[in-house]
Amino acid sequence: MTPEASTTHAVRRPNLKDHAVSGLRELCKRRGFPAYRGDQIASWLYKSDVPSLDAMTNLPADLRAAIAMDFDLSSLEVVTTQRSKDGTIKILLGAFDGARIEAVLIPEERRVTLCVSTQVGCPLTCSFCATGALGFTRNLTTAEIVDQVLEARRLLDADQTLSNLVFMGMGEPLLNLPAVSEAIRLFSDPKAFGMAPRRITVSTAGVLPQIAPLLEVAPIHLAVSLHATTNEVRNELVPLNKRFPIEELLETLRTEPRINRRRPVFFEYTLMAGVNDSLEDARRLPRLLEGIASKVNVIPMNPHPDAPYQPPSAEVVDRFTAALHHAGVRVTLRRDRGRDIDAACGQLANREASPAAAALQIRQD
Ligand code: SAH
Repeated sequence: MTPEASTTHAVRRPNLKDHAVSGLRELCKRRGFPAYRGDQIASWLYKSDVPSLDAMTNLPADLRAAIAMDFDLSSLEVVTTQRSKDGTIKILLGAFDGARIEAVLIPEERRVTLCVSTQVGCPLTCSFCATGALGFTRNLTTAEIVDQVLEARRLLDADQTLSNLVFMGMGEPLLNLPAVSEAIRLFSDPKAFGMAPRRITVSTAGVLPQIAPLLEVAPIHLAVSLHATTNEVRNELVPLNKRFPIEELLETLRTEPRINRRRPVFFEYTLMAGVNDSLEDARRLPRLLEGIASKVNVIPMNPHPDAPYQPPSAEVVDRFTAALHHAGVRVTLRRDRGRDIDAACGQLANREASPAAAALQIRQD
């Protein structure tokens, strides 16, 4: 093989999974085939999960050949999986350029949730988040978001189905809205993954101009990382607050017509000892949220070496949630999942498996 030929071969082609079903229909038409062939491709890719175009047996061979020439079919490879004692599975995935990202599968009694990443690292530098300490490398493509779901689904037992999807892994989804939107279209399209949009939640630190465009994509749920009741504290924890302060954030949510009692916003409030866990905070929060259809998820800080914060004592956590509850706030305490394998909220930082976790993995796989 000449050097030129091998170089050409190494060039990355567009990925077939970057396209929503409308795009798949379009690319079939452009090649002289009827649009419904695009629906068939979506069904093979996302319902049957076949490994190659050869397996798409009801497609004409010349269409298969044309698509095989123009597109790549997979974008990520599983590097390792780690299983927590509580059943949570952290999946480390590698991309073509060596980038590493993580997805977390959380099986519970009545649902199986996958937490997906949207960026390699994150540009927001939130002071309490392990991903923030990594810095930012690049946005993920739609195919890379979709492949996290396909790879996770392959790890499920026969009696399990993936029921919920949360965009709460590495990265800020609203700083990668085009790729995230196209992925949401695939997840919610009955011809592709066919998930109910209300079972999909996208979390943002508050990139205000992108909230309405996101909610236009599909009737999904929005989560907002609030974490503080004053701008002074939120500026420290979430530097994005200096651009979009608390009042503007809450006013945007209060006036957003797609947020209502049927589709409330979920506020995430990570409790950090001595930082945002006072009774004053618990009194201010309900006043701030007045007029916004919402629920509050309280998450005791998951400590890690890159942040100087600790969770409050169980008593303080209870006092805080009880005060919110008494003030009429719909509040839930988020259970900690996968802490032993650094898979809990804010712990995703591509840390190597500890020897103990690796042993656990060998025993359980
Ligand atoms: N960038 C988006 C998506 C990440 S979601 C966002 O900020 O919403 C990850 C959630 O975990 C966010 O609510 C984040 O604030 C929270 N989190 C980050 N670090 C954490 C930690 N150490 N302990 C508990 N929650 C944390």
